[in-house]
Amino acid sequence: MGEAITVTGDGQICTPKNPVIPFVPGDGIGPDIWVAAQKVFDTAVVRAGGGRAIDWLEIKAGEKALKETGDTLPEASLDAIRTYHVAIKGPLTTPVGKGIRSVNVALRRTLDLYACVRPVRYFPPVPSPVKHPEDVDMIVFRENTEDVYAGIEWPKDSPEAREVIALVEKLSGRKLREDSGIGIKPMSPFGSKRLVRMAIQYALDHSRTSVTLVHKGNIMKFTEGGFRQWGYEVAAEEFGDVTITEAELWEQHNGVMPAGKKLVIKDRIADAMFQQVLLNPSDYSVLALPNLNGDYMSDALAAQVGGLGMAPGANIGKGVAIFEATHGSSPKDAGQNKVNPSAVILSGAMMFEYMGWNDVAAMIRKAVAKAVQTRRVTFDLQAQMEGSTLVSCSEFGDEIAAAL
Ligand code: NAD
Repeated sequence: MGEAITVTGDGQICTPKNPVIPFVPGDGIGPDIWVAAQKVFDTAVVRAGGGRAIDWLEIKAGEKALKETGDTLPEASLDAIRTYHVAIKGPLTTPVGKGIRSVNVALRRTLDLYACVRPVRYFPPVPSPVKHPEDVDMIVFRENTEDVYAGIEWPKDSPEAREVIALVEKLSGRKLREDSGIGIKPMSPFGSKRLVRMAIQYALDHSRTSVTLVHKGNIMKFTEGGFRQWGYEVAAEEFGDVTITEAELWEQHNGVMPAGKKLVIKDRIADAMFQQVLLNPSDYSVLALPNLNGDYMSDALAAQVGGLGMAPGANIGKGVAIFEATHGSSPKDAGQNKVNPSAVILSGAMMFEYMGWNDVAAMIRKAVAKAVQTRRVTFDLQAQMEGSTLVSCSEFGDEIAAAL
């Protein structure tokens, strides 16, 4: 019998030796990658020793939940995630059609998972479109609840859109085209600061050297510009003893980190940052971004190191975290035992690190690196990797488990 992970008042995660971890295999390719991943997780935990074991608890969400319960996200599943604090899931299909909610969005909203966290690093010899993918080693913290993704939109010609257009004219004197669709971009100090706070804390906990705030504050002064300002504020107010801004570092210390300071806080305008991650990726470590910038940046960075099949992620809130691959359920590949299970396996490594089982996390990452080096890989990598052999999803999972 497993026990629940607990979270202290100040947010510390306490993991028992035999934690209960809720999981959703997911839709489409989800069950294929989950079978491969669970085997890797269990083997890693046993090999790492200490008498630890996971008590896996399957919970329902997505297509399977809809068939069995009539609801894509049953309340019982949400309750289990709240109770056990840490969960892992496969991808869930969002049916196309009016009025059908995305389970992924509903999970983030209901549990207030305000940070989407995606580490991006290179596993040689995964095929990459750039010359030096090994220079990329970044953790992206994307704000998950605000910005144009808050879902406040009205279609063109709707009474609401017309009312907002009239109000905008009254308040600003600016005339918008009458048949415009309208979307609202809310960004708050609360939402921005808690995201930047998590990014800074992560950087300090993992001996990272910089946090970069990525924004379009030059154009959107009170939303994106606010994000930049509030980010610097949280750094100065809550971490002032160990952080220094890039401007201070150069203006007052000639670029040499003063004693006692550990972390440089800098900011970049989003368009320039897309150039920077290609031209000077080793200058960047932890990134904190508003929702839309973060969405674009995390996919662009994933492509830079070899694509979606290797990209892990997590959605994290206050005392609750769900780990998941960045890719979707790829229905066309479902049930064929062919896709790459690495993304969900690396998401598991993030989960173990979050639980404080750093030894297990490190073992899993090393094993994925070793397995890729054998060049016995799934189709997504095999097609472009010289001298490689095609293996199935389960064979690649076994390859990783054997490398543990
Ligand atoms: P997708 O990520 O499922 O597929 C995009 C491409 O990536 C496909 O060509 C696919 O073959 C490839 N791919 C994806 N995962 C792979 C893997 N593990 N190994 C090898 N190749 C892989 O994106 P999509 O087709 O836009 O979306 C399909 C469904 O997934 C939609 O219903 C969408 O809403 C959902 N989705 C869910 C999540 C989530 O659960 N977090 C995320 C994204 C999309």
